[in-house]
Amino acid sequence: MCQKSKYEADLHCHTSASDGLLTPEGIIEHAVRRGLRAIAITDHDTITGWTKAEETSERLGILLIKGIEINTDWEGKEVHILGFGMDENNKSFKKQLFDLQEKRIFRIKEILEKLKKLGIDISFTDVLQYARGESVGRPHVAQAMVKKGYIASIKMAFDRYLKIGCPAYVPRYKLSPTKAIKIINDSGGIPVLAHPGVQDLESDIRQWVEEGLLGIEITHPDHSLDDKIKYHKIAERKGLIATGGSDYHGPGIKPGIELGDWGVGLDIVDQLEQMIKQNQIEAK
Ligand code: AMP
Ligand code: FE
Ligand code: FE
Ligand code: ZN
Repeated sequence: MCQKSKYEADLHCHTSASDGLLTPEGIIEHAVRRGLRAIAITDHDTITGWTKAEETSERLGILLIKGIEINTDWEGKEVHILGFGMDENNKSFKKQLFDLQEKRIFRIKEILEKLKKLGIDISFTDVLQYARGESVGRPHVAQAMVKKGYIASIKMAFDRYLKIGCPAYVPRYKLSPTKAIKIINDSGGIPVLAHPGVQDLESDIRQWVEEGLLGIEITHPDHSLDDKIKYHKIAERKGLIATGGSDYHGPGIKPGIELGDWGVGLDIVDQLEQMIKQNQIEAK
């Protein structure tokens, strides 16, 4: 028996198209088992999970919102921008995603060179064993390090080698939140600032709203109650949609995190769908 989720909809999760463990089909099936009525898949910098997720959601009768999470850098902090409802046929959107994938590959190869100098010999082929989808990232390097016995856990791989400030860290390709917001808006999607409490981004939000940010993620496992209250007030004041999701990466990746235990009600899903419709018209 699968325990029912706390929310009706979860607007943030990852599949094997990026660094999640479950396939797009698997995550939709899991959402249905959990009793969810709507779900957004938001893989890092890729939409290759959309097709299978859509087929499965139509078959099983759950609403799918097509999403993405674009990783950007901002004044030494990692800022993640969620996007919902982009037009997958938009040429410039597709080109931007292709560029991001190329830059990801390049960055991972640089990380592997740094690791080699530190005596850790991992090949790009080793990493690709874990990156089953298009979007290769540091979690896949960490998995290869654990598998080859260089380190005990993924978390330790990040804490000792891969995090900002660590010896094998390579800065991300220079993509700003401003650019990510534009990429999403230009292809008819809704840009939403992901988990701002993690990076303490309160003072930066005003600028991004002027640049087209339309929402803030409020309900997220890394947010304290204070974060939720603070960012909810900002969302209300600025007329932004308040989204939420579990940031689920699969069973056992982060103990205690289950799909749908962070999320939103169907009222927010309706609001988001209305906004997507409106933005699709304006982007054309
Ligand atoms: P990348 O996209 O290659 O920069 O990797 C970012 C991803 O690594 C995030 O989306 C998380 O899934 C994961 N991650 C980031 N920091 C940590 C950490 N300290 N421990 C485990 N996983 C992490
Ligand atoms: Fe991730
Ligand atoms: Fe994130
Ligand atoms: Zn995420």
